[in-house]
Formats: sequence, structure tokens, C-alpha cells
Amino acid sequence: MKGKIAFMPAAHTLEFHEYEVSQVQPGWTLLEVTQSNVCGSELHVWKGEFMAGRGMMPGHELAGRVAALGGGVSRDCAGAPIKPGDRIAPVYFRVCYRCRNCVSGNHAACLNPLPGNPHPDHPPHFTAGFSTHYFIRPEQIFYRVPDNVPDEVAASANCAMSQVFWALDRGRIGYGDSLVVQGAGGLGLHAIAIARARGAYVIAIDGVDGRLNHARRFGADEIIDIRQYPDARARTARVRELTGGPGPDAVLEVAGVPQAFSEALAMVRAGGLVLELGNISRSLTIEFPPSTLTMKSIQVIAMTGYPPHYLKKALDFLSLHIDRYPYGELCDARFPLSRAAEALDKSERREVTRAAVMPQLG
Ligand SMILES: [Zn+2]
Ligand SMILES: [Zn+2]
Repeated sequence: MKGKIAFMPAAHTLEFHEYEVSQVQPGWTLLEVTQSNVCGSELHVWKGEFMAGRGMMPGHELAGRVAALGGGVSRDCAGAPIKPGDRIAPVYFRVCYRCRNCVSGNHAACLNPLPGNPHPDHPPHFTAGFSTHYFIRPEQIFYRVPDNVPDEVAASANCAMSQVFWALDRGRIGYGDSLVVQGAGGLGLHAIAIARARGAYVIAIDGVDGRLNHARRFGADEIIDIRQYPDARARTARVRELTGGPGPDAVLEVAGVPQAFSEALAMVRAGGLVLELGNISRSLTIEFPPSTLTMKSIQVIAMTGYPPHYLKKALDFLSLHIDRYPYGELCDARFPLSRAAEALDKSERREVTRAAVMPQLG
């Protein structure tokens, strides 16, 4: 049996590789990929802003069906029994569980993260989501997807949703807090829903109709349209008007542009919190006076990734809230694996909110 997998060697370039799908070794699990979303980090590479020199095996927000279980594998990482055909979401990275950060619960900052494959030529070849198959390694965390959560929803639990779940936990965002979410893409919408479920008052900022619409339907109390408030001062004034006085308790930056970070610093109340997630490109920089931080006593918590067990929390949240928010609409464009480049292009042009690559479409 042969399988296909995509590789992004440089910006705006996608190539496909074909290999024999090898026998599943003890401790490993083989999935047939049903869906892999286009995430912001893939777009940064696609645009040439991030990791462009090394290339990337795209696809980490994925779900699939068990094609074969290696010897000794009979349960997921929460103890649920699994069998061929079951729907699975794997955590796409591996941490050491031994370093100072892992043992203190901050696995997202693991000091010895285990490396992934740099190129699909390395066996077992299928270790990323823009692919027909996916091998889960023995130490890799994975969970069975709850029956009422479709694959297209489960796929986004992996990166976007687990990441913001962790961020809101680290920021202790809870009942009565006011939170501004900058950017209503995949991360932003998940953050809005989770923050609302915890009783926070949520204001979403974006400049695209479809995204603003979704922000409302995912529970945002208020939205601010960037086209209506084109400069940062006007947006800050509007946020202050809505939150009353000194500004919001917290701002979550998931817009992925440096200007959004400095706007968050300007917007948050004195003594408030900025959760920085969106900026991951070294090449994108901005100047800002560090005195903003000191003079306003602002706390900044920045992070990427999440403790692996957050994927389980995210899947459970989805199962509980699947009818409350329009999760089924999060993926608004579906592409076969052969048209994955088009999925990336349309995402780059923001013609779609969340594009899905679905190998079984052909
Ligand atoms: Zn570690
Ligand atoms: Zn991602």
C-alpha cells in the first residue's frame, strides 16, 4: 500500500511525495487522515515569514481513523479502548515530561521537546497531516474523538483550541473578567467560546465580515470592526467605552501581527494582562516603549503550544458545547490533498476562515 504526503520546501511551494506505508511497529498507531486544517503557522511558512530555509511538513491540526494498531496499543491516553476504525485526534508534538518546565506543569515550554521529522523522506514518512496516512509514535499523546464531535470540528481542537484553552487557564480568565480578543480566526473564535463559557465579558476585534459574524455567534458580547475604527486610538477608545473607564482586564493577541501586540499594551487597563500568542514570525518586528509595561504594571504571558493533555480538555469542551456554538461552520472550505496549495493560497488571501485538507476527497 502506498501513501502520499505533502512537503513545503519554500514559500508558496508545495510538493508531493509517495512512499510505501510500512507495517505498524509495536507501540505505534497508524491513522488514515480524514482532515487536516490549514493553521496560521503553516501560513507563516507559506508566506515565507517563518522557517522558510528548512521547509516544513505541513498539517498538524488533524483527525483520522485508526487503520492499524501496533502491538500493545489498545487504549487512548485517557484509557478509552480503541479499535480499528475509531476516530482519533493526536497531539502533534512530543515533550520530555522530565525537565523543570514539564514537571512544573508548563509542558508548552518543554526544554527538551522531541524532534519531529524534518522531511518526509525519513521513515516512517507519514508524520504530518497533509497526507493520506499518519503514524502516531509510542510516546505521542492521542485521544479518541467523542462520538458527537465530527472530524472537521475535532481537527481544530489540536492546535488552535488547546492553545487558547491553555492561554485562558494561564491567564486565569474567569467570571466577570473583561477580555478583548484581537483576531477572530480559528484561535480567536475558540477563545471567545471558552471565555464566554467561563463567564467573561468578551469583545472581539477583526476587520472581515465573515469573521466578525462568527465572533458574535461564538459568543462575543461586542464586536469592533476595524474598518469602522481604522486606527488603534479609536479602537482603544471604543474598548474603554465598552468596558467602562480604565480598559479591559485582559487582551488576547491572536491576530499574528506585531502592531496588535503594541495595541494590546496600550489598550489593557493598568495592572492588566496581555496574553501573547499570535506573533510567531522573527521577521515581523515593531518598536514600542518598554515603559508602557512598567508604567502600567502590565503582565505579559506569552506562549506557544500547550500541555498535551489539553487536547482532551478541548475535545471534552467540544462534546459539551457542540450544539451551543456553530463549530460545524468553522471549516468553511474543503480541498482534496492534491489541491492543498490552493487551500493555503485562499487562506493567505483570507478568502476562507479555516480551510481543511481532506485526503479522502481524492
Ligand atoms: Zn520537558
Ligand atoms: Zn497550529
